[in-house]
Amino acid sequence: MKVWMNGKLVEKEEAKLSVFAHGLLYGDGAFEGIRAYGGKVFQGKAHLDRLFASAEAIRLKIPTSSREILQAIYQTMQANGVSDGYIRLVVARGEGTLGLDPDKCSEPTVFIIADQVALYPEEMYQKGMAVIVAKTRRTAASMLPPSVKSLNYLNNIMAKIEAVDAGVPEALMLNVDGDVAEATGDNIFIVEGGTTVTPPPAAGILIGITRKVVMDLCGELGIALKEDRINVERLYAADECFLTGTAAEVIAVTKVDDRPIGSGKPGPVTNRLLKAFRELIRTGQFD
Ligand code: PMP
Repeated sequence: MKVWMNGKLVEKEEAKLSVFAHGLLYGDGAFEGIRAYGGKVFQGKAHLDRLFASAEAIRLKIPTSSREILQAIYQTMQANGVSDGYIRLVVARGEGTLGLDPDKCSEPTVFIIADQVALYPEEMYQKGMAVIVAKTRRTAASMLPPSVKSLNYLNNIMAKIEAVDAGVPEALMLNVDGDVAEATGDNIFIVEGGTTVTPPPAAGILIGITRKVVMDLCGELGIALKEDRINVERLYAADECFLTGTAAEVIAVTKVDDRPIGSGKPGPVTNRLLKAFRELIRTGQFD
């Protein structure tokens, strides 16, 4: 496997970071998880815009332009024979001292990995998944804004550990006000009487790129949509629930904390959106 690192394709074994890199020492950096379908990068501009916004929020200056990074993504895909796969794009704060000060660090490291992904088995897309509501709350915007896709994922990992302990694949995270924010690596939607509802950015979420694609699909399919706060009672009482994310795409949630959602099967709106999303990918009619 070849990895793109600071302008060059190198063998995986040679793609190394210093143990003094703040990206490693403190999770100080930003990243994107991106999909490619049929040799085409899915929502490339949106991912690069989000990466640059995340970097700016943590005062990290990316030494490579957005255009160069997109070219490098294609180069990395080609070098590894990946046309349908998953791309991990990382900007890690460079080598520094043992103190926190980012200004004492060298140039950040940019690296790109192109690999395969299969997050959940197809059966789960047909039958839906069970999740729990985690006790770990999502960090508030006043702590570490969830809109920043930083390398520091411990908040989400703590909730993921709760899911693992409960024997389910995902956990939902509430914000500090007790409203549903998102899953550990996905955004959440519910369906109520035919209307699709998703928490607004102010609920403290990562503003997902798949979330936006699905919101646009709702518009195209004439499915009513609104952004609104969702508390746990409202979630339990929903007709349908589904998650969206780069790796998960669109997947139904049919059980929350052992309570069936709606009929306990993926609902009609979820199925329509999943079908439309897959059609978008199959036809390559995406940005
Ligand atoms: N929320 C979190 C916390 C995430 O890490 C992700 C990405 N894995 C998402 C939502 C979904 O975002 P996207 O659709 O851009 O992958």
